[in-house]
Amino acid sequence: MRKKKVSAYCSACRIDQAHKVLSAVDSQPGLVKCSACGMEGPYMAPRDKVKAALKQVVERKKVDRKRERLRGKLVELNSKGKLNKQVWEDLTAEHDADEATDYAMTASLEALQLVDHPKFGLGVVVERTEERKACILFEDRPRVMVCGPDSERSS
Ligand SMILES: [Zn+2]
Repeated sequence: MRKKKVSAYCSACRIDQAHKVLSAVDSQPGLVKCSACGMEGPYMAPRDKVKAALKQVVERKKVDRKRERLRGKLVELNSKGKLNKQVWEDLTAEHDADEATDYAMTASLEALQLVDHPKFGLGVVVERTEERKACILFEDRPRVMVCGPDSERSS
């Protein structure tokens, strides 16, 4: 039996407490004993850690939703032929040009991805329109460009 101590959630104290590790499974705490109340039980990850992890998931979902809304708006603007230089400026202003992916016909591009085209310059992927094609908004106008690995052709 090891005398290692870990921070864990105590269901009796209802807060994170230092726990003595009574047994370990695959180097993870198995049975633990609360140093405050002496309650023994299976190890439960400290709540602050769980909370932090949950918060991260929520934040990520928020960003995903924001991106989803923006993507939808761009597709709508595109269908109305309203993708213009102003939209391009708004989109690229938020990005660092260094983040741009060099455009290549075999590049896998996703919506909202920033691309750098040797001829048309900086562009933002609006949507994948069909197999191996994507609508990309460049400074002057949107263009449908070939993109995607060759393997996509057969799928
Ligand atoms: Zn306790």
